[in-house]
Amino acid sequence: MAATDLVTVETFANPLDAHLVELRFASAGIPAAVLDDHITTLQPLWVPMIGGARVAVAARDVDRAKRILDRIAESRGAVGRCPECRSADCRLGIRWGVLAVLFLGFPIGPFRARSECRACGHRWWR
Ligand SMILES: [Zn+2]
Repeated sequence: MAATDLVTVETFANPLDAHLVELRFASAGIPAAVLDDHITTLQPLWVPMIGGARVAVAARDVDRAKRILDRIAESRGAVGRCPECRSADCRLGIRWGVLAVLFLGFPIGPFRARSECRACGHRWWR
């Protein structure tokens, strides 16, 4: 697999997460490479500049790899991808009901959190 054929499908601040995803891809028969993991380990403060450890696959495997990443995100209860534009640049809102119970002793507001896509602005409840 030549380096020019590789497509980055996900980046991680923690290189161990990148290697776990590499193993998950391998178990699905998708050859993958973890790039920039050494510099991310040695210089973690550089992660915002270099983007972290990258998991890359061959262009022909990108769709399958992204479906696996979606399943991983859903199984971990992560914010996941935007249902409208499929962007991974999403954030999870505050569970106000849980906070109210913790600090006030009674619930105010929803127990579910609202996710927001930073790419397209779409909002949805989780
Ligand atoms: Zn979106």
